Amino acid sequence: MSIPQPPSDHPGNGLQGVALQTSRAERAAAAADAAERSPLAAMIVRFDQAADLLELEPGVRRILREPEMQLAVAVPVMRDSGEMDVFTGYRVQHNTARGPGKGGIRFDLHVSMDEVTALAAWMTWKCAVVDVPFGGAKGGILCDPSGMSKGELERLTRSYVRGLGDVIGPDKDVPAPDVNTNAQVMAWVLDAYSRQIGHTVTSVVTGKPIELGGSLGRGDATGRGVMLASRAALEYVGLPVAGATVAVQGFGNVGSAAARLLQAEGCRIVAIADRTGAIFDAAGFDSEDATKWVRKHGTLAEYPRGERLSDAEFLALEVDLLVPAALEGVLTRDNAATVRARVVCEGANGPTTPGADDILNANGILVVPDILANAGGVTVSYFEWVQNRAAYMWSEDIVNDRLREIMTRGFLSVRDQAEKHGVSLRTAAYMLAVGRVAAVHHLRGVYA
Ligand code: GLU
Repeated sequence: MSIPQPPSDHPGNGLQGVALQTSRAERAAAAADAAERSPLAAMIVRFDQAADLLELEPGVRRILREPEMQLAVAVPVMRDSGEMDVFTGYRVQHNTARGPGKGGIRFDLHVSMDEVTALAAWMTWKCAVVDVPFGGAKGGILCDPSGMSKGELERLTRSYVRGLGDVIGPDKDVPAPDVNTNAQVMAWVLDAYSRQIGHTVTSVVTGKPIELGGSLGRGDATGRGVMLASRAALEYVGLPVAGATVAVQGFGNVGSAAARLLQAEGCRIVAIADRTGAIFDAAGFDSEDATKWVRKHGTLAEYPRGERLSDAEFLALEVDLLVPAALEGVLTRDNAATVRARVVCEGANGPTTPGADDILNANGILVVPDILANAGGVTVSYFEWVQNRAAYMWSEDIVNDRLREIMTRGFLSVRDQAEKHGVSLRTAAYMLAVGRVAAVHHLRGVYA
């Protein structure tokens, strides 16, 4: 796995300096190109920027640039037909200095070591931004879950957990749902792990069914966090939340919950989109109704309301708030100039490339970065883990109140950091996160 290297800091003599500058510029351009396509390269660009601003000690910088552990495993699965298929599964622990690795498992055709490594690093930064005591990890299986039966998905999950061996565990690395996985998949992870260990361990995963130790409020938690971050951002730029117009891209667990909760705050959800296309209704969609439709039919493809828009028209809508809540790399340097939203609040991980960031910033669009905006999910995962370990269950009101407290504190600390250093919210969030993880490395010391 090759991680793009930062431009060399070696000053050299005059002549070397000229050569170095050319290659530095070339390397910077190559890194910028790579960051448009590769989530890991995009993560590294942001990390390097924050590390430079923090004047991070070079040793710690080198540690934080690399994942602690990368694992690829074969995942053999017996298909319903009796045929044997073998998938590739990944788990990456980026950093566990602040606590157990934490992060979801996704089942998707985009899954790669590059993507999982970036997502694991984003979990490290996310947990640090909202200051929950976890490190960052992520997992995934390269597969198309839509073409698999429930039985096949169960065998896939169990086979993956077997492949992971003792890499996961409540004090080591705690998975959760992500793209195309849900509470049922977590129940299978819990069961497979518990059978391996010999007793039931609820705290090995979060986002479980409530009956198995899941937390009240976890299902909506990422969407609720997006709502809270969006509300804070709209207020910050002086736009009233009531009546604010919103476009939500992605209508899965995160996008649909964010739309419902923003609507409950008085926002008008004028556009929604999923992988089958986008729809617009100036009067505003009923998010509850659209959510029910998607639960029943799987996508918005046949949803009988609103007018159809192209993806490009959707991104260019003049709205107060745009919530990309689908996958990585949807706002790029090729389309960012068309965005006319006042605020972008990132429900997805990595939806905006560094090239797009520059354009959005130059156009005065406030971007609430993923590592802050979608931290509600992992925050309630933390509450779930705490409840499991205490063998005690909190009420939904307590969960939601504590989530609000943490998201509000997170937003304010990022905003203050941004104002203090005159940087974007994204750079501020990275500075806070990287600074916190680096501080822990300094406190703990490094093996000589
Ligand atoms: N998959 C979610 C995320 O990307 C939640 C992770 C977790 O709860 O561990 O933040």
